[in-house]
Amino acid sequence: FAFKFRYFLFSFLCWQNTIPNWVRDHRVHHKFTETDADPHNAKRGFFFAHVGWLMQRKHPEVLRQGAKVNISDVLADPVVQWHQRYFWPLKLIFALLVPLLIPVYCWNETWIISLSATLCRTVGLLNVTWLVNSAAHIYGSRPYDTQINASENFFVSFLSIGEGWHNFHHTFPWDYKASEHTLFMNATTKWLDFFAKMGWAYDMRSTKPEMIRTVALHQGDGSHAMNAYANEISYDEFQRKIKESDR
Ligand SMILES: [Zn+2]
Ligand SMILES: [Zn+2]
Repeated sequence: FAFKFRYFLFSFLCWQNTIPNWVRDHRVHHKFTETDADPHNAKRGFFFAHVGWLMQRKHPEVLRQGAKVNISDVLADPVVQWHQRYFWPLKLIFALLVPLLIPVYCWNETWIISLSATLCRTVGLLNVTWLVNSAAHIYGSRPYDTQINASENFFVSFLSIGEGWHNFHHTFPWDYKASEHTLFMNATTKWLDFFAKMGWAYDMRSTKPEMIRTVALHQGDGSHAMNAYANEISYDEFQRKIKESDR
């Protein structure tokens, strides 16, 4: 509960929509990635996937599939219900008022500087969040699946502390790490591991290395062999294995 509550607070700090809204869009995005039913379909270009989708009415397919997707688990959660009921007052308090008041009252910052900092932080954070839908669906390598546009993007991972390893995330969406790397540019995983140790986060699923390797071998772009286990097999050997498996 405490863990959920923190995330609930963070959702305001990052100026996000309501939790059920987010969950519904996210589930539809994974189920219908890069089709008309994808809320931020990257096939419609960088700008649309980044922020354009929030500036216009949703595509009829998004609405149709969104209405079908099951989010009853989320709606049944008491924290979520409370969050929905008081969404706007809570958002104004945690996203605007508290960040505005702390610098002014704690270290005598001027109002205008405090307001500018709050606005800059919000604009910056939103753009980083959106890069996961835009840049990480267009630019980068595809070590696990070349059939999808979601890609491994170092730049986005750096900015979003671990959310840019998007080819992995779309190939193995159940994996809580959202990446194969647990240390490299993925502080989010360490954060979740920390709460798992405390017992606040549980039932976390991940993917067996053998499964990742097999999938990468069959449908990846070959970069997996060069990066993740370069020490174990050479690139030539990797190519040979692919040819063998094709036979
Ligand atoms: Zn996702
Ligand atoms: Zn995605």
